[in-house]
Amino acid sequence: MTRTVSDRLAAVAPSATLAISNKAKELRAAGEPVIGFGAGEPDFPTPDHIVAAAVEACRDPRNHRYTPAAGLPELREAVADKTGRDSGVAAAPEQVVITPGGKGAVYATFQALLDPGDEVLLPAPYWVTYPEAATLAGAVSVPVPSTVESGFRVSVADLEAARTERTKLLVFVSPSNPTGSVYPPDEMAEIGRWAAEHGIWVMTDEIYDHLVYGDVGFHSMPAVAPEIAERCVIVNGVAKTYAMTGWRVGWMVAPVEIAKAAARLQSHSTSNVANVSQVAALAALTGPMDAVVAMRQAFDRRRGIMYGMLSAIPGIEVAEPQGAFYAYPSVQGLLGRPLGAGRAATSMELADLMLEQAKIAVVPGEAFGAPGSVRFSFALGDDDIREGLGRFAEMVSG
Ligand code: PMP
Repeated sequence: MTRTVSDRLAAVAPSATLAISNKAKELRAAGEPVIGFGAGEPDFPTPDHIVAAAVEACRDPRNHRYTPAAGLPELREAVADKTGRDSGVAAAPEQVVITPGGKGAVYATFQALLDPGDEVLLPAPYWVTYPEAATLAGAVSVPVPSTVESGFRVSVADLEAARTERTKLLVFVSPSNPTGSVYPPDEMAEIGRWAAEHGIWVMTDEIYDHLVYGDVGFHSMPAVAPEIAERCVIVNGVAKTYAMTGWRVGWMVAPVEIAKAAARLQSHSTSNVANVSQVAALAALTGPMDAVVAMRQAFDRRRGIMYGMLSAIPGIEVAEPQGAFYAYPSVQGLLGRPLGAGRAATSMELADLMLEQAKIAVVPGEAFGAPGSVRFSFALGDDDIREGLGRFAEMVSG
């Protein structure tokens, strides 16, 4: 045997979104005026009162020691309260496990629920981590496609067509990365009731719960379809709402048996999430929300700039983003025809061309299981958005 890397990890693809931001960083380091639309994180610093709580926590010797693998009791309680407040779902602290980011919660949920051969329904376009984390649990992802025409939302009929005897779990996310779409509560409830009827578990990823715009509201599946609550895991974290991606604090809220299983996994893998980060997350969840409101206003303004500029580009078809900080235009109209000195046959090739010609970095739909579109983040400055999209418009018309 000469093979080095395990079959398990050989089957896992590196994160395409990180790859594109690295490529953009390299070009920038080489002096190119690259504008990155690839980022999946707020460009704001973490609000001051949260940072202050962390600084204080550093000086407290209690935080210099191991703490429970499921999380600091105060934080588990604050998450239970937050889930009641924001999601409208009653939760007890013992249902909460604090994880290394929302990503850690996705991983732990899949490890706790899935066995080899189990099928996971994955509405596409999907966030890059879901299929890989499912693979790591030995499960099989079953993509359920959606299109720009349906607002990138799947229906019960779409899901029913993909259901088999082996379907164990549905992955649900609203607001969505990468599409920025948000399900209306009635459609969400229908999906929840369908899952409950067939004994299918739901992992609902609520990481963008505070980032909804216009008259669109945030809704949580177990609040609108209480039937699913006993088979539902809510995933969330502080990363996107509080500009805390680097602090690595997320959580899952699950039926107690699943929460205990996830805590067992963490007790032998990561142990507790860094205490200082947990104290910072506690300050975030229990503190003032003005900074969050201001950040959301900035994102909303940038969303308007981006949607307006993208809509005006011939060959682009784009739905107005309703949540998160992404626009997901279809670029089908640009494929196969001359663009400046080049030509792109696929959205992947187009993303390369955009980086080369217009010096703008986007993530191609191939990364999200849905070629033919590209993802633009609007978590960057207004001027950069205008400049970058101006260059894109020029590339398309020139
Ligand atoms: N879920 C979704 C849909 C996301 O977009 C992200 C971040 N890209 C996460 C979960 C995880 O975020 P984190 O691990 O930084 O908390």
